[in-house]
Amino acid sequence: MNTKIIDGLKLSKEIRSNLKIRVDNLCSKNIVPGLAVILVGDNSASQVYVRNKIKACENTGILSIEKKYPENVNETELLKTIEELNKNSKIHGILVQLPLPSHINTYKVIKTIDPKKDVDGFHVINAGLLMIGKPMFLPCTPYGIMKLLESEKINIKGSETVVIGASNIVGKPIAMMLLQKGATVTICNSKTKDLSSHTKKADILIVATGKPNIVEGSMIKTGAILIDVGINRNENNKICGDINFDSTIGIASAITPVPGGVGPMTIAMLLTNTVEAAEKTIV
Ligand code: NAD
Repeated sequence: MNTKIIDGLKLSKEIRSNLKIRVDNLCSKNIVPGLAVILVGDNSASQVYVRNKIKACENTGILSIEKKYPENVNETELLKTIEELNKNSKIHGILVQLPLPSHINTYKVIKTIDPKKDVDGFHVINAGLLMIGKPMFLPCTPYGIMKLLESEKINIKGSETVVIGASNIVGKPIAMMLLQKGATVTICNSKTKDLSSHTKKADILIVATGKPNIVEGSMIKTGAILIDVGINRNENNKICGDINFDSTIGIASAITPVPGGVGPMTIAMLLTNTVEAAEKTIV
């Protein structure tokens, strides 16, 4: 079987260039979409993610401001910053880069963001709206995966879909979105007993665990669509996903590469949510 490599970079560029038109339209109404990014501590992966998000904003005409705090920042100070950003009419989206240091209550921090500015879609209100099928902001990574599936014209309705990973930011929301599109969804987690008994059934397999090589070719059905969300470093310090890519070639009908698959889509959807937040301010 010919395995298609799904090009997330190409689709993300198309989305970003279409967004520029919407940004120009907003600017003609004197609204410049604005994103505030809060970064705490010096986690190197977080610093790279924030840098990429800010660069993507600049390239799309979105104003971005970065608020940096040391690892030992006090929670009250962080909450005060968010409250100020909530009131700032030039800021349409607020993003707190996760993970936060353990002395900070992440739930409380995210809950302080105005849900209308929660462009990451992590606020409980946005999680709840997604759950009942009336989303305001979809979390960026699952939103990007749905766009990839849509652009590849992959049939979701009636499909057997397996999601490995049940985090609040990837596994649970993507499972909910797929369910709402008519898939039969199985969610696996670290306590799942026999992973391959589930993966072998999957027409669509989404893997988001942070465990390299957790899925390999022998665990999938012929013709499966594979979406690899993982971002890991292998023994040679090279970026790799959760799926053993090479072992699936010739068995899967399509796979997203790492890098160049889901990652760029996450940023494109963050920009989309920010532009949408700005558009919603037009009455
Ligand atoms: P997480 O650590 O919050 O959750 C991991 C999930 O995987 C948990 O539900 C856990 O139960 C499950 N899991 C762990 N080991 C397992 C096993 N052996 N079998 C079955 N399930 C297992 O992680 P997360 O935030 O959801 O991120 C997952 C991965 O995706 C990470 O590599 C992360 O870097 C990456 N990620 C990528 C993007 C992107 O834009 N591409 C965005 C977010 C996260």
